[in-house]
Amino acid sequence: MIKRKLAELAAMCGGHVADAGDSDITIEGVVTDSRKIKPGCLFIPLAGERFDGHDFAGDCLAAGASAVLWSESKGSPPGPAVIVDDTLEAMQRLAKSYLAACGTKVIGITGSNGKTTTKDLVFSLLATTFKVHKTQGNFNNHIGLPLTILAMPEDTDIAVLEMGMSGRHEIELLSKLAEPETAIVTNIGEAHLLQLGSRLEIARAKLEILSGMKQGGLFVYNGDEPLIAQVLAEPSTEKPEGLRMFTFGLDGSNDDSPSGIMYMEEETVFTSRAGGSASLRLPLLGEHNVVNALAALAVARHYGVSEDDIEEGLRRVELTGMRIETIAGASGITILNDAYNSSPIAVKAAIGVLEKKRGYRKKIAVLGDMLELGPTEDEFHREVGRFLTPEKVDLLFAYGRLAEKIAEGAAENLEPGTIFAYHDKSELIEKLISMLHPKDVLLVKASRGMKLEEVVDAVKNSN
Ligand code: ATP
Ligand code: MG
Repeated sequence: MIKRKLAELAAMCGGHVADAGDSDITIEGVVTDSRKIKPGCLFIPLAGERFDGHDFAGDCLAAGASAVLWSESKGSPPGPAVIVDDTLEAMQRLAKSYLAACGTKVIGITGSNGKTTTKDLVFSLLATTFKVHKTQGNFNNHIGLPLTILAMPEDTDIAVLEMGMSGRHEIELLSKLAEPETAIVTNIGEAHLLQLGSRLEIARAKLEILSGMKQGGLFVYNGDEPLIAQVLAEPSTEKPEGLRMFTFGLDGSNDDSPSGIMYMEEETVFTSRAGGSASLRLPLLGEHNVVNALAALAVARHYGVSEDDIEEGLRRVELTGMRIETIAGASGITILNDAYNSSPIAVKAAIGVLEKKRGYRKKIAVLGDMLELGPTEDEFHREVGRFLTPEKVDLLFAYGRLAEKIAEGAAENLEPGTIFAYHDKSELIEKLISMLHPKDVLLVKASRGMKLEEVVDAVKNSN
């Protein structure tokens, strides 16, 4: 993590030390949450909706922080401080100059789905050969990204950074801050349609990742999505000189595509066309994860990771929780926990995993509302329902006001007695548990706000 004398830190973030006598104080690490102060850290007060971190600065110093960043407009600081115009912007500048000082290369990852998974894959492959740092959890926005950078060890070769957004110009800010040498766009979905209005506009927002890229950088993108190439060709798309391109996807016309995919119980085996004939074992489920892996393979090969190390890196991949995690329930039921988030392409990807499952008595899907899809949200839910066929699921449990439309759509292909819709989670859990059998496999998926992990926990602990 960042370790600097206060005077140096002030220069890095464009501020000045409040009391010159404090210039030699050393800070180690930065913290924005006043409840998580570590001895010797720099506390950065941010203004939130309900609280202003400046109000806690005195407590943070008492709790062991060595110094604070302090907005000029807030009067005099309660102790050793670096005075800045705006604490958030100063933190972002600090992160940018820390990256430059470390000489760390950046791989930026954005897209509608699969960012975190792809980030974990890229990290695991590169970690075989380089000193790598990655975004923890989902710290992917204007606050999380600089915090990720500032937490990075000074000798990091490559930082693998997830970049998230909910509107235009957010990825632009992150890209200009981190200046990726390599950028990945995993795909374009429907998440944030409410804020952005169209998939084209979502594509434009994602391709803002090009705007801060280093000259001659590599852009790795999903070639199955025509909108990406379309936006790439738009004259208004800001991109670096000498940009190089690599496409991946299921379609054989991409620079890399998979063949011979085999869906096993706990892994997926496939061959990457760009990598020769060797079978690769990916300890993740689903065709969508093969596509995520192709993006990671392209980056690893670009940085010279050997095919042997690639195999090793795939074996060791550790995913951030709740992304199609296979859990054994108490009574022997297999749970595919994907309660972390949902959107139309993501739910179809997860149903694809369920479809490939063999040897179970019944395949059961518990699907909840997909939030933030905008005015046509009902139709998106109905469409997911129509996608369900008896080959894919035997029983459907829909949870929530919107998910009711999934149940409506599902009625086209599934038998009436196999569809259940609830607005009350405990009623759903009760019915579900009463129908479960140890040889069943259960997929649980909804938007984060629906908290379907409660269903997972209930089933896990049921006998
Ligand atoms: P967030 O926007 O919440 O940060 P993310 O882009 O980081 O999401 P992940 O956390 O990697 O995405 O995956 C979330 C879910 O999206 C997965 O559980 C899976 O269902 C689905 N998903 C992942 N990759 C893909 C993909 N390539 N195509 C479609 N769906 C995918
Ligand atoms: Mg994520």
